[in-house]
Amino acid sequence: MSNPKLCKGMKFPNRKVFRAALREYIVKKPVDIKFKLNEKTKVSVHCKYECSWRIYASQIAGELTFQIKTMVPTCICGRTFKHSQVTSTYVARKYLDDFNKNPDWAVSGVKHQVMQDVYVDLSINQVYRAKRKAREFILGDERLQYGKLRDYAVMIKVTDVGSKVILQTEITEPNTQPKFKRMYVRYNAQKVGFLGGCRPLVGLNGCHLKGKFGGHILSATARDVNDNIFPVALGVVEQENNDSWVWFLQTFADDIRRPNELNLVFISDRQKGLILTMELLFPTVEHRFCVKHIYNNFKLNFKGLELKAALWRCAVATTVREFEKRMQDMKKLDNEA
Ligand SMILES: [Zn+2]
Repeated sequence: MSNPKLCKGMKFPNRKVFRAALREYIVKKPVDIKFKLNEKTKVSVHCKYECSWRIYASQIAGELTFQIKTMVPTCICGRTFKHSQVTSTYVARKYLDDFNKNPDWAVSGVKHQVMQDVYVDLSINQVYRAKRKAREFILGDERLQYGKLRDYAVMIKVTDVGSKVILQTEITEPNTQPKFKRMYVRYNAQKVGFLGGCRPLVGLNGCHLKGKFGGHILSATARDVNDNIFPVALGVVEQENNDSWVWFLQTFADDIRRPNELNLVFISDRQKGLILTMELLFPTVEHRFCVKHIYNNFKLNFKGLELKAALWRCAVATTVREFEKRMQDMKKLDNEA
């Protein structure tokens, strides 16, 4: 759909798809158009400057299918840097991902990108309108999705017996709708699979949510017997801190079973909130640090493949004596460097 080639006889599932393909085609070509007919069952477009270029498409009787019946594919009119179909709405939709990832995308940057892609010179006002519309599409969409979470939570509980979903909301200002706070989701198969088929090793991790409303995902992940990653539970929280980790891990322990009963070992990065939480909630449970994360800090001061290999040799040592020997070796290597 990003670069459709139209020809006579071509079929489209419905009118909407045809219109979208037509729009992309004339913008890319480019031909500027005017509609002679724009009805539910037939669409006829001509070149805006009245050369012989035209396309006529209509609905096939008894189907929703749209088909191109007539097409004169050559436009002999000169090119301009304006196009009636490249509107602010068109730009907002076409670059929705970019606007989402980069809300501060400069006006000049948007102008430049559109010029490069479709040779249209947008006015400053068009760019502002496109930015505003993109923001509305993104926000409106996400707001609607948050609004559906309560139904979603109920639906999981009804259709997936044995699952666990907790949805927390809060009222931040009087007389307003409750706002999303936190969510915990664990499907039935996750608990059954974890207890029945995974080693008692749980990786904990947090990561940013990139959407408009931010927040963090916290996850508990195991490895199955095929050594594949096996997600056990996830939480969505306001941010990764002491409070949110306490809430997530307490919920996890209540839900799955106490970590000391299961002889669990937790593994994570060295996030401060998480370290404190583990000491507070499960003082007797093993908590290890992920060597990949340790190495990311380590390599800032100690560079080179030799030292990297030495660090990993320490990490995989299985006895105290071996570990100490490997550490000695690593220190010796560092002194040589
Ligand atoms: Zn023309």
